[in-house]
Parts: sequence; structure tokens; C-alpha cells
Amino acid sequence: MAQAYKIAVIEDEVKIARMIKDYLEKEGMTVVWAAEGRAGLELVRQQAPDLLILDLMLPDLSGLEVCRLLRREQNIPIIMLTARSQETDRVVGLEMGADDYIVKPFSLAELAARIRAVMRRAREQAGIPGATGKKSEPAILQRGELQVDGENCSVKRGGREIELTPTEFKILNLMARHPGRVFSRLQLLEACLGEAYSGYERSIDTHISNLRKKIEPDPANPIYIATVFGFGYKFLQH
Ligand code: CA
Repeated sequence: MAQAYKIAVIEDEVKIARMIKDYLEKEGMTVVWAAEGRAGLELVRQQAPDLLILDLMLPDLSGLEVCRLLRREQNIPIIMLTARSQETDRVVGLEMGADDYIVKPFSLAELAARIRAVMRRAREQAGIPGATGKKSEPAILQRGELQVDGENCSVKRGGREIELTPTEFKILNLMARHPGRVFSRLQLLEACLGEAYSGYERSIDTHISNLRKKIEPDPANPIYIATVFGFGYKFLQH
């Protein structure tokens, strides 16, 4: 059954905004709309929608900026609308905390499906705060110089704390718990975002590269996370 979500749309192209609004309202959702970034921020603050559909190209603040500002304040699920040429922005957006993206031109049925998937994920995450996998696993892992604390979501190397983003931590925590096992990019995405879309498998490479810069003594010659060409990545035995 369709859920009566309240959706905010920030999109300056009136035609697209109207199309989205009409379709989602037929699906039983409520839609509020702003055509500019600043007005959109205010809209989200005042209306407290369940989810935000955010266009990246806006006349005043960019969508990325809106995403960054909102993430400081709240956890609202965000789906970005992007052009085919904006691949770098998509990756940046995902790193800034957007939950998903859809490329223009898109089908409205697909957008509605993405909304439901993102909402399902958000609910699941809200239902299991701090869940770190099976209870039988030790919370703190020691792998060489690396110490991964699944309970406090912190990582130390040689006793010194390393600052990771939540996504980087999830990737490392998962891989370090299964040394030697090869993970595909899709599996890592699935583990980090809850659901995988083959469209942005390569964004994992960015996360891995950033992770290596932080945890590897020599990122060019990794001793923790190895690339398995043609497959993905694995955490090396220590
Ligand atoms: Ca636009």
C-alpha cells in the first residue's frame, strides 16, 4: 500500500517540478515545492518533510550546498536530481550525505520506487541504532597496527585515533571483520547504503582511496586494503 509521505522538491524547472508533484500526489504523497536553494532550505525547515528531492543545478545556492547545509541540521533522506554530465557532483553529493540520486531524464515510476526504497532504509536505520552486526563478534578488532572499534565506531592506528567518515568506517569495519574475503563494489555499496544501484559502483573507489590515505602507512603500497583486479577489494590478513 502507498505510504502518505510528505515530500519536498527543490527544483527550478517548473515543468519538472509540476510533473513530479502531480505524479507523487497521485501516488498518495503530499508534495511541497521550492524553486530556489535558499527558499528550499526554509521550506524544509518549516514543513519538516519526510524526504527531499533536490536538483543540483539551482539558480542561487547549488544543490550540493543545500545538501551540506541541511546535513549539519538534520538527517532528512535526500535524493539528488542530476544531469548525465554531473557524475563528479553525484559522488560528492553521496559523500555529503545524500542517500541516492536519479539521472535526468528519469521515469516518474522509478523516482517513486527510489523514494520508497530510501524511506524503507531510513526506517530500518532508525529502528536499529548502533547495530554493528552479530552479537558474537568482538566489538574491538585488532588487525596489525589497526584497531577497529565497532561499538564506538572509532579507528586507531598505533594507538592514535583516525577520523573517518561514517561511510569509510562502515567499509573498513565490514572488510576488517572478514579478512581475505573479496568484496565486490556492489557488495560494499549495499553494506554501506543498505541497497545497491549498479549506477554508482565506482563511488566505492573514491571511498577506498580516501580510506587508504587515512589508514595506510603508504597509500601507494597498501598493506590493509588490497585491490583485487576485476572483482573489488579485500582486507589483508594480519
Ligand atoms: Ca535545475
